[in-house]
Amino acid sequence: MEHDVTCSCGKVFRAVSERARYCSSTCRSRASRAGLVGPKAAGPKVVAFGAVAATLPASEPDPERQAEPPLVSATRCELESAGRLNTALGQQAMLLADRMASPFASAAAVASLAKRHSDLMAALVPPAPGKPDALDEIAERRRRKAEAASA
Ligand SMILES: [Zn+2]
Repeated sequence: MEHDVTCSCGKVFRAVSERARYCSSTCRSRASRAGLVGPKAAGPKVVAFGAVAATLPASEPDPERQAEPPLVSATRCELESAGRLNTALGQQAMLLADRMASPFASAAAVASLAKRHSDLMAALVPPAPGKPDALDEIAERRRRKAEAASA
């Protein structure tokens, strides 16, 4: 049914549709740009989603900023100086070190990982005489802790 509608520009026009609000597409697009029309309920949700997405950390971790556990860097350092880092066993030792350094590793897991790790490192890295082995010290400390926990 036809009725008179007052557009935002002030012009009164005769409309058929109950939902007609603007006299022309120019007025409608101007109102749209001003945020007066469109699915208003969805607007804030989209904005909120964008804000959340913006605060999410990047999916790829920055290797420069991610601190490596001391055990892992010690393992890497020793393997590198022995020229064994890029060997299958060297990478296995790295993996063991990584698992051992994980805060989620159980005491029992650390104990067996430390044993495998020590064996691998002993086979891969020639002993440096006179130099205290920080890595073995860490492994030994964790092993003792694991033993104390299981006792
Ligand atoms: Zn108008």
